[in-house]
Amino acid sequence: MDKDLKDKTYSELLEIVASHQQKPLCGQYLFIFIHQKDATEINAITPLSKAFRQQLADEGFGILSLAPLDQHDDPDGTVKFVFGLCDGAKIEAVRLKDGDRNTLCVSTQAGCRMGCKFCATGQLKFRRDLTAAEIVDQVYHAESICGRISNLVYMGMGEPLDNFDNVMRSIEILNDKRGRTIGIRRITISTCGLPEEITKLAAHEIRPRLAVSLHAPNDAIRSKLMRVGRKHPLEEIIGALKGYQKLTNKRITIEYCMIDGINDQIEHAKALVRLLKPLRVNANLIELNPFPSCRYNASSTHQIKEFAQILTRSGIETNIRFKRGRSIKAACGQLGATWLK
Ligand code: SF4
Repeated sequence: MDKDLKDKTYSELLEIVASHQQKPLCGQYLFIFIHQKDATEINAITPLSKAFRQQLADEGFGILSLAPLDQHDDPDGTVKFVFGLCDGAKIEAVRLKDGDRNTLCVSTQAGCRMGCKFCATGQLKFRRDLTAAEIVDQVYHAESICGRISNLVYMGMGEPLDNFDNVMRSIEILNDKRGRTIGIRRITISTCGLPEEITKLAAHEIRPRLAVSLHAPNDAIRSKLMRVGRKHPLEEIIGALKGYQKLTNKRITIEYCMIDGINDQIEHAKALVRLLKPLRVNANLIELNPFPSCRYNASSTHQIKEFAQILTRSGIETNIRFKRGRSIKAACGQLGATWLK
């Protein structure tokens, strides 16, 4: 909502206070109380005068809070949060614990327009983009349960670059020193590969890390698995990534979901190496996490390791991500699975 103070960046809050003839310090109080002290109502921001707080409330300003509907805990430390939005839509976020790392995987849309065949979210009806406040509040709720979130991945429900402006606004808020101060190098946007938006991201003043879900070494396999593959051929995506790397000099992570008999053969690994040659990348091989009506199966551990070896031998640093949080349907590709008919 336009009157949601949680949705505003620091400079926008300064503009609001200035338009109410208040001192800039009031904007600072607003930001600190909302994003550092978790204020959920204007009245709790006590350094502001009573009259100004009342005026904001009278004008319809408020501070959004997601409704936590459910929480699921996996024995491996993974926690899945289910939130309700004000219009009845539901989203999920996942906390992953790995040593000192407390990572939160946040959602950016209710549903997803991209329709990837191996992903439960892609089978749901697209409802809408999340606001920046709805994205940052996933972090604030997770922190209230699991402690400080050190790393953030935009890899939950939805395609982040399909909601570009709100995603970048949420990153600006979460990265702000007056708020949560999550370092930009600890924030990753994961995209299914939208070339135009990748180019836009490269030119943006805020540059988080970038991960790209390729999942296939050629267009024929990719378009079978991902609807977006029919719209944007790999050549176009690699071109956008080359441009991104030229401007940012950042290494890109390639996400590759290992699907039995579809994209996991030796020749696929070799073709992937050739495809990635012009880029500086590392790769994550993800064991497929099928949802109930999914038509695909996960590759065998042997197949995944063999595939990884080919990538590693060609100089691509490769990690294998075996299942995390599967018992609570919180693994990669499973978000929203419990709502599928
Ligand atoms: S994998 Fe990502 S982009 Fe594809 S349908 Fe799922 S959420 Fe959307």
